[in-house]
Amino acid sequence: MLLFKTVSDLQSYLQKTTNEGKRVGFVPTMGALHKGHLSLVQESKSNCDVSVVSIFVNPTQFDDKKDLEKYPRTIGQDIELLCSVGNDVLFLPSVEEIYPKDLDTTLQLDFGQLAEVLEGAFRPGHFDGMAQVVNRLLNIVQPDCLFMGQKDFQQVAIVHSMLKQLKSKIDLVVCPIIREEDGLAMSSRNRRLSPEFRQKSILLSQTLAKIKAKMTQDTPQQLRKMGLETLSEAGFKPEYFDIVDGFTLLSIDNFSETSYVVALTAAWAGEIRLIDNMIIKQPTEVLA
Ligand code: AMP
Repeated sequence: MLLFKTVSDLQSYLQKTTNEGKRVGFVPTMGALHKGHLSLVQESKSNCDVSVVSIFVNPTQFDDKKDLEKYPRTIGQDIELLCSVGNDVLFLPSVEEIYPKDLDTTLQLDFGQLAEVLEGAFRPGHFDGMAQVVNRLLNIVQPDCLFMGQKDFQQVAIVHSMLKQLKSKIDLVVCPIIREEDGLAMSSRNRRLSPEFRQKSILLSQTLAKIKAKMTQDTPQQLRKMGLETLSEAGFKPEYFDIVDGFTLLSIDNFSETSYVVALTAAWAGEIRLIDNMIIKQPTEVLA
């Protein structure tokens, strides 16, 4: 695997590969890699000729500076994992490379309600920072395909909107959530869970699955209440447990009002904030 730390070195390498007509797949990450990230790399490898992974803990998307400081950094292990799946290129930039003083990287796009609900209501500025870094990285890498995880459902919706507003030709490929054997969605933050919360954390996916099983008999309102109560009673501090239209991310009152239904939750497990989601009704049309 090749490792580049500067934009100019990465771009001169990628220029050669695109001149040879090779398709570039890109997987942006914040490191502390696990099998969820590696599934994106595998997808990138099977769809493209050259797979580029970036590891950059983006300061502009952290609303909580303590969370930024405590974000796990395991670069040696990350490099080993990326080599084990045959990734081609690792881009490991500094903050100065991504945000040079003489370059305005801010994005003037409007995501409307997509960025205001769910995570947006609890993490002010998070999605502006996320869109800013994804756009900057896409401008640097200029990939043919971008691989992102359904784990961050709202993030994918916003990146989809961003690509549409920018009239980008990049293909956004959304990859399924990879879970631990007991159902906990893999996350870099899981390694910071206390043993007690690690055990209990299976409740998130179990509760989401219960919503799916009960959607023919109960209303979304009843199921939201059930989700919040289940997590609270187990000692979590849920921020939201919502059932939404997968296209607009707005809460639904009735399961028949849309063809695309997703249940999403964010809950504090002690000091660790976990998110998870489950598509409970598949869309009949594909997002354009
Ligand atoms: P992060 O390093 O958390 O910013 O994640 C980088 C990419 O990996 C994002 O597109 C995430 O949605 C994706 N990802 C994180 N966890 C998982 C998972 N458990 N399964 C699949 N994709 C994931």
